[in-house]
Amino acid sequence: MKLIEGQPISEAVYAECEQELAKLKVKGLVPGLAVVLVGEDPASKAYVGAKDRKCKELGLHSVKIEKDADISQEELLSQIDTLNADDSIHGILVQMPLPKHLSEEEVIRRIDPNKDVDGLHPVNVAKLAMDDSTGFAPCTPSGCQRMLLESGIETEGKHVVIVGRSLLVGKTLALLMMGKGKGANATVTVAHSRTRNLEELASQADILVAAIGIPKFIGPGHVKEGAVVIDVGINRVDDETAKRGYRLVGDVDFEAVAEKCEAITPVPGGVGRMTIAMLMANTIRACRLRSEM
Ligand code: NAD
Repeated sequence: MKLIEGQPISEAVYAECEQELAKLKVKGLVPGLAVVLVGEDPASKAYVGAKDRKCKELGLHSVKIEKDADISQEELLSQIDTLNADDSIHGILVQMPLPKHLSEEEVIRRIDPNKDVDGLHPVNVAKLAMDDSTGFAPCTPSGCQRMLLESGIETEGKHVVIVGRSLLVGKTLALLMMGKGKGANATVTVAHSRTRNLEELASQADILVAAIGIPKFIGPGHVKEGAVVIDVGINRVDDETAKRGYRLVGDVDFEAVAEKCEAITPVPGGVGRMTIAMLMANTIRACRLRSEM
């Protein structure tokens, strides 16, 4: 069994980022990322903090905007308008999920598609569906694809089963994997909460991706001998022995499944690291594309 770790692969992405940053610096350009956090959700706060730290480490301009959970839809949209008009900002990410009284869809639609480095605006989703590489693909699915590419795992003609159909992960990863080009050309099946006979379906996968949000949901019965397993899930489970009182586990029961796999990603230390790396890469690309407009 081969462990596909996020660390070395994300380092390769950061090395590319540094080269791109150096080229932009010559032109006097510094990419800027604004991350908007609404409310106090501890996991969201941790993600936003990690994104901000990485920006600073790489030398990107980073703006962290924190808003109270009771912000109105109009105020939030007006904040997006301000960032859309700000020339020092090339990428805007609104950390999801938003409090229930806010419309995530309306917020995403308000972001300038050229600054939508999370790749969730309808223009970018459509470009992904149309194999138009001028758009931005969402960071987590792009990270999964990059992990497969860097690990030398062939996807062409392979059966990829994705469990989860969210726009953020499952649905857009399906579009990426069925697209044309390197790290794609796969035959894709998307399973979800209404899928029947999930074990039977999942165990036909050459490459099985779990993006469900249920700790250790995928067990040995879901995995074919010799399959590649990508675990997108990040779940906090209580653990009194851990310093913070919880630990992170994936959607895959790693211990039970690993020995059946040709390769598998760990949690933590797997896909999560790639998400931030792809966000940095998308922001740098957004800056370059703007400079070429
Ligand atoms: P989501 O809640 O939006 O979607 C979950 C999907 O799982 C849904 O499409 C649902 O149909 C499916 N599902 C739920 N129960 C199921 C069942 N019993 N059988 C089959 N399918 C079922 O979640 P999401 O935003 O797509 O995130 C999924 C997981 O990935 C979460 O653990 C989340 O924390 C994690 N995540 C990780 C990263 C990262 O950077 N690694 C990024 C985003 C999300």
